[in-house]
Amino acid sequence: MDRYRINPGQAVNLAQWDPADRSEFEGDKDAGRLATKELNNRMEELQELLYAEGKHKILIVLQAMDSGGKDGTIRHVFDGTNPQGVKVASFKKPTEKELAHDYLWRIHRATPGTGEITIFNRSHYEDVLVVRVHNLVPPEVWGRRYDHINAFEQMLADEGTTILKFYLHISKDEQKKRLQARLDEPHKRWKFAKGDLAERERWHEYIEAFEAMLSKTSTVAAPWYVIPADRKWYRNLVISKILVRTLDNLDMHYPEPEDDLAGIIIE
Ligand code: ATP
Ligand code: MG
Repeated sequence: MDRYRINPGQAVNLAQWDPADRSEFEGDKDAGRLATKELNNRMEELQELLYAEGKHKILIVLQAMDSGGKDGTIRHVFDGTNPQGVKVASFKKPTEKELAHDYLWRIHRATPGTGEITIFNRSHYEDVLVVRVHNLVPPEVWGRRYDHINAFEQMLADEGTTILKFYLHISKDEQKKRLQARLDEPHKRWKFAKGDLAERERWHEYIEAFEAMLSKTSTVAAPWYVIPADRKWYRNLVISKILVRTLDNLDMHYPEPEDDLAGIIIE
């Protein structure tokens, strides 16, 4: 899975990253789904342990083009985990109150506490993506945000947060199929936003913004992974594997029980 991780400062040309890659798994789609189910079971155990131990904080950041699969990833990768310990924070267009503050204000308050996993569905990275593409602030303002973000994430890591960031990489063709399906299938139509078509026209500008984000903000403390996301099952499998491996490496333990429980008889 390390092949999907961006090293600090690594130049990223997304044209060289195949959105349909599946080279880390030998089996077919059904086998891949089964493998993810098994990882879900392990994930459930690890999340319970994380919650019980109450020592670590886990932050997962998801970014993608529209229809890139952020929602589906959350549904499948965290299937079976306990909602008490897993939170999702979705960041939409900032409100007036949020805009009256610095761009990290709404982000910091949503970060995980001990024992928690928090998934960011979009994040502070919108402030160097949509904001950059649409010139919502001048280049000198968004340009210095990469350094702020690295410092902010380093601080979170220093204070005990494990951070993993996933860019879900889909092709322009795959986005076309998914947007078309949202139009064609009645139960998906609520997801169709005409505005997504205007964003699609800026595909290349978004790719440039993603490339800058990936090479400037992948750090040892908070690495980015480029996840091949044209195949949903492969996307879920790869992310599940990375998460399970990361949680396994935390070497967590259940808290010591109270003393002298052995002789207790419950009447
Ligand atoms: P998604 O598309 O992620 O599944 P959604 O369809 O439920 O979510 P949308 O309203 O389409 O919700 O997405 C949120 C919108 O808010 C996106 O267009 C995103 O670019 C925008 N947004 C998020 N953060 C910011 C920001 N800091 N500044 C400007 N726009 C932002
Ligand atoms: Mg949307």
